[in-house]
Amino acid sequence: MHLSRYFLPILRETPKDAEIVSHRLMLRAGMVRQESAGIYAWLPFGLRVMAKIAQIVREEQNRSGALELLMPTLQSADLWRESGRYDAYGKEMLRITDRHERDMLYGPTNEEMITEIFRAYVRSYKHLPLNLYHIQWKFRDEIRPRFGTMRSREFLMKDAYSFDLDQEGARHSYNKMFVAYLRTFERLGLRSIPMRAESGPIGGDMSHEFIILASTGESEVYCHKDYLDFPVPGPDTNFDDVEGLKEIVTKWTSLYAATSEKHDRDAFSLVPKDKQVTARGIEVGHIFYFGTRYSEPMKAVVAGPDGTERPVHMGSYGIGPTRLVPAVIEASHDEAGIIWPDAVAPFDVSILNLRPGDSACDAACEKLERALAAKGKEALVDDTDERPGGKFATADLIGLPWQIIVGPKGLGAGQVEVKRRATGERSSVSIEDALRMVAGG
Ligand code: ATP
Ligand code: MG
Repeated sequence: MHLSRYFLPILRETPKDAEIVSHRLMLRAGMVRQESAGIYAWLPFGLRVMAKIAQIVREEQNRSGALELLMPTLQSADLWRESGRYDAYGKEMLRITDRHERDMLYGPTNEEMITEIFRAYVRSYKHLPLNLYHIQWKFRDEIRPRFGTMRSREFLMKDAYSFDLDQEGARHSYNKMFVAYLRTFERLGLRSIPMRAESGPIGGDMSHEFIILASTGESEVYCHKDYLDFPVPGPDTNFDDVEGLKEIVTKWTSLYAATSEKHDRDAFSLVPKDKQVTARGIEVGHIFYFGTRYSEPMKAVVAGPDGTERPVHMGSYGIGPTRLVPAVIEASHDEAGIIWPDAVAPFDVSILNLRPGDSACDAACEKLERALAAKGKEALVDDTDERPGGKFATADLIGLPWQIIVGPKGLGAGQVEVKRRATGERSSVSIEDALRMVAGG
């Protein structure tokens, strides 16, 4: 991709109304634009990151056995009257009337709708367990939308819903999501810590928020330091191994970790002083078992092996891809800009052509771009007529993992400069070595 033909509206000035670093950097790097309070357009560069994050979320949901579908954003109010939530949800729900005066709403979540889909088709335990998810826009009329896409009114959510015959089955479904979440955040380059969360009227221990530590986080959190070094289950994890998953979840819940709502001072004081972490955190995911809260009023029943019918046991599991974009930036940036982890970088490499129009520079950039593409690496070639200083600043700001700097002087000696954005390490090497460093092999 050539920057001269791309749409990357960089802001040189720091936007005044953006309070936290990720919001400032997303605006400066031309990733999003606010269209109204808490409602954002995703510009090409930002959309690439969001799509990569959503794809990793999807891959890990699929790996755990969950099945993707897609429910609409608009829902009928009648469904919500069945569960009793239409009135209870309050002002966070955006209510709409269609031309036939029917009450509709823009979905803030999908428990009712998925329960309706389930009950239409599934009657027997033989089709269980089942976990259905989608990645869809939600609307919540938050009182205080802020921090850009971190807390917006319209946002993307991956929400999964599990169905089991009984609580024991539901626990395994819960554990699958627990492990899938650990893996998802690890792949995004984030260390997430599952923290005990409010479990609503059902009580019990099956509600966890997955928290990323960050000084700008909205939650106050308390945890044992060792969580920062726990190994995350690998890609070969067997999600059907009930005991195996139970062991992982037991380990990951064995030490103290709670948000302020669940904080227990006395229990925390038993954690050795040098292991006590008190910090701010960003909630990037929430998993939650709620039993028959929806299946009972909405009559989603299944027949067990003995033929008797009972309401199905459910859980719901959310992750916010549009919140994860700023969360990744909060965790990975420096004075000069964003530092994308390889897995979510919108392009792999910035190629800085320091003298566009110079035939040797143009040819070298062309050659690099093609050779990288052949190895599956996407480059963004800065072929604009900006001066070199501006190009360096842009490359650092937009934070692609590698930079290859191509200038007439270096090329004269058969060399280009390669810079690793994360470490700032630079080396002058041949074009072939540059390719090896960036694309391997
Ligand atoms: P919060 O306490 O931050 O308002 P929540 O408890 O309302 O979150 P859930 O209903 O559990 O959130 O939603 C699941 C996930 O969706 C959250 O973990 C978060 O990643 C994302 N999410 C929720 N609300 C927003 C929002 N306003 N903007 C962006 N992402 C959000
Ligand atoms: Mg909320």
